[in-house]
Amino acid sequence: MSLQQLINELVRDVPDYPKPGVMFKDITPLLADHDGFRAVVAAIADHAHGRIDKVVGLEARGFIFATPVALALGAGFVPVRKSGKLPSETFAATYDLEYGTATIEVHRDAFAPGERVLIVDDVLATGGTAEAAVSLVRRAGAEVAGLSVLMELSFLNGRDRLKDLPIESLVTV
Ligand code: 5GP
Repeated sequence: MSLQQLINELVRDVPDYPKPGVMFKDITPLLADHDGFRAVVAAIADHAHGRIDKVVGLEARGFIFATPVALALGAGFVPVRKSGKLPSETFAATYDLEYGTATIEVHRDAFAPGERVLIVDDVLATGGTAEAAVSLVRRAGAEVAGLSVLMELSFLNGRDRLKDLPIESLVTV
C-alpha cells in the first residue's frame, strides 16, 4: 500500500465538526497506528530540503508530528503556541479566522540568527496559521526552509498565501 493510501485509510472524515457544513480530517486513528504514524514521520523528515536546525510545531496537532521529525533530523524543536501560553518574551502574530481572529506566539530567543527552520503542522487549510507562523519565525531572526504538512486541503487555496515557500504535503485532497 502506498503512503497516500495508508494516510487516506487512517485519517477519518468527521462531518459537521467543529460546526455544520465542515468535514473535519481526524488524524487520531493515524496516530494510534504505529506503522502509519512512523511512516508519516519518516516521510516528513525525508522531504526536508537541506540543513534544518530547528523544527517548529504549530499547537496543538503540529506538535505531535514536529517533535519526532526534529529528532529524526537531528534538529531542535520549537513550539509556536496560542496566545498566553509561552512563559518568556514572545513575538505575536494575529490572523483572521472565518469568525474573529487568532493569535499565535513564539519565544523571541527561540532561534539563533540565520538558523534554518522547517515548520510542521497536520493540515494546511486556508493557510492563515502557516502564514502567521512564517512571519513569526522570520521576526525571530531565522530562515524558513519550508512547510511540511500531512494533508493539504487544496480547495481552500492555502498555498496561494504562502508564495515562494517550499511546501510539502504527503496527501492533497
Ligand atoms: P488554516 O489556518 O490553514 O485555515 O488551518 C490550519 C490549522 O487548522 C491547522 O493548525 C490545523 O491543525 C487546523 N485544521 C483546519 N482544518 C482541519 C481539519 O480538517 N483537520 C485537522 N486535523 N486540522 C484542521
